[in-house]
Amino acid sequence: MLYTLKIKLHPSAEQRIAILKTMECVNAACNFISNFAFKHKIFSKIKIQQEIYYLVRDQFKLSAQMVVRAIGKVSESYMNKETRDTLHQFKSHGAIVYDQRNLTVKNMDTVSFVTLQGRITVAMTVCNYYAEIINNGHRVRGQADLCLVDNIFYLLLVVDSPDAPENIRKEFLGVDLGIVKIATTSDGKYYSGATVKNIRRRNFKLRQKLQSKGTKSAKRLLKKRSKKERRFATDVNHCISKKLVQVAKGTERGIALENLTGIRKRTTERKTVNKTMRQELSAWAFNQLRQFIQYKAKAAGVPVVLVDPRNTSRTCPICGHVDKANRKTQAKFVCVKCGHSANADINAATNIARRGVAVIQPYAVA
Ligand SMILES: [Zn+2]
Repeated sequence: MLYTLKIKLHPSAEQRIAILKTMECVNAACNFISNFAFKHKIFSKIKIQQEIYYLVRDQFKLSAQMVVRAIGKVSESYMNKETRDTLHQFKSHGAIVYDQRNLTVKNMDTVSFVTLQGRITVAMTVCNYYAEIINNGHRVRGQADLCLVDNIFYLLLVVDSPDAPENIRKEFLGVDLGIVKIATTSDGKYYSGATVKNIRRRNFKLRQKLQSKGTKSAKRLLKKRSKKERRFATDVNHCISKKLVQVAKGTERGIALENLTGIRKRTTERKTVNKTMRQELSAWAFNQLRQFIQYKAKAAGVPVVLVDPRNTSRTCPICGHVDKANRKTQAKFVCVKCGHSANADINAATNIARRGVAVIQPYAVA
């Protein structure tokens, strides 16, 4: 499985200048190549290389690999025929591409790569939580994009990690995703998102206030807020997904989830969810949690199955009776036929776990 690591670079002041100059030079070379390609209608990488490789090397004093990558970048930008009627221009601090030949991740602390000032070794930290995957000695593969965002250098690095052998499981840990309790399992455990919810609500109110203001500073504050909110939700999602996978692995079960469209359906199905809460229910947070569960499960060899989300909150796991009236309140499930009662979220998770068993051929999410 391929993972993209987002790496934050911590260059010294001197290194920072070297990186910026390299970016500027590579992008200037890209503009030069683009001008040539556009003027002569030559867009194939190989043909451009045949025509101007030495010229670019000579003029921009770039390493061989950097020239090849710059030509590749320009050629790729013209790949789509419809885009060939305008001259493509490259921003001076636009992303530049590296590969294994001119960039090496030595351990998870430093990365070394070629600049105009020669090779430099820069301190780094992994921003997303895939560090555990690379720490197991997996290979860096393909290309890495070096980019500048809000004055910070990032490296987007693709690594290849072998999947742990996946066993077909007979039993599943059912996970019900919700708003108040982010995740409820068929074991009857909650993974609460109360704090996330409170923060989101506070931010939502603030957002409304700021949006009505509409000033520049209000917009800036808004952006900062939503970034913070996302970061926090990401941390929570990482903790929850990690725990869920640990539980499933420890008990030799797979994980059963509803599919994403199911969450939206259920939100309207459970009438108690008011408008504000639905707005708070940002699709990306659920999507992210699902992705985290997926990659952590995959790395741990735990299969993930998606189950049909219909009526998971209305079905009785004891007698199988499906009825809207089974759902007494938001919190309580009482079967009108057999009288079985349970917490509504746990009940839904139980149904999800059972449906996982019914899925004959487990398939990984995406
Ligand atoms: Zn029943």
